Amino acid sequence: MSGSDGKFEPIDASAMPRFAGLPTFMRLPHVSDPAVVDIALVGVPWDGGTTNRAGARHGPREIRNMSSLMRRVHPVSGISPYELCRIADLGDSSVNPIDLMETLKRVEDFFTEIHTAGAHPLTAGGDHLITLPIMRAIAKDGPVGMVHFDAHTDTNDEYFGGSKFTHGTPFRRAVEEGLLDPKRTIQIGIRGSMYTSDDLAYSYDSGMRVITIEDYFSMGVEAVIAEARRVAGNGPTYVSFDVDGLDPVYAPGTGTPEIGGYSTFEAQQMLRGLKGLNLIGGDVVEVAPPFDPSGNTALVGATMMFEILCVLADAIAARS
Ligand code: MN
Ligand code: MN
Repeated sequence: MSGSDGKFEPIDASAMPRFAGLPTFMRLPHVSDPAVVDIALVGVPWDGGTTNRAGARHGPREIRNMSSLMRRVHPVSGISPYELCRIADLGDSSVNPIDLMETLKRVEDFFTEIHTAGAHPLTAGGDHLITLPIMRAIAKDGPVGMVHFDAHTDTNDEYFGGSKFTHGTPFRRAVEEGLLDPKRTIQIGIRGSMYTSDDLAYSYDSGMRVITIEDYFSMGVEAVIAEARRVAGNGPTYVSFDVDGLDPVYAPGTGTPEIGGYSTFEAQQMLRGLKGLNLIGGDVVEVAPPFDPSGNTALVGATMMFEILCVLADAIAARS
């Protein structure tokens, strides 16, 4: 629990085995007051923005379960996030599974409380539309940059004859609403068959840096990291990790799989490469347990959350 310095500790695996106890994120305490944390681990169990294969509403619970495999110290950077920051499980955002627009408001309100308290969110989704209300809460003071891992740009305009809010549209809306700076946004892993030949036009025309999977493999991971750092620069930067950016060999449990992606290890390298950026929060989205019979995609989601947690805690400690 909380020590005299206000920091929270995961349950010691030598005191209580990993399969026992309540499955919070990273086996941390569950707290309700965002004012007592620097980083709020949050679930948004909602997939009402999904246009095809639903199921990501079940993501937070399975990611919590698999996060019990995470240990305390990063194996490469040596970062020990729980020594750097006060980190706990803030529970799940309120959602309404049968009302999209009301859910956007509930999620925004939940994250506004976290932001107002001075904490930084690291979220398990949920489908990718949840990033929009999160940005509405945390980018009120000005647009943020974003390092975006995904097979898809998620900058489409509308679906089904006028629906503007889906998991394929959040980042066009975020730019339109002044929440996201497209010139400080990089999208990594873009691929897959398109609706029309100009599907990527909005990303390019708005100034986002688009790294298609062909670009990714011709550049190599080190050059992609350097480009992400150049694009994000020194400004406040959000990390959004859609597990469908990975090859579905590694993450089959997702709604919109696209073959020919990067590996889990390459994604870990890229996330580690964000150390030193001015990070303000992040999410791991589109883990869909109904398509994940082995549970491996939830393990991937939990591990990527830990990777982001380490660089985020390092960034927050560096600023304080
Ligand atoms: Mn996405
Ligand atoms: Mn995607």
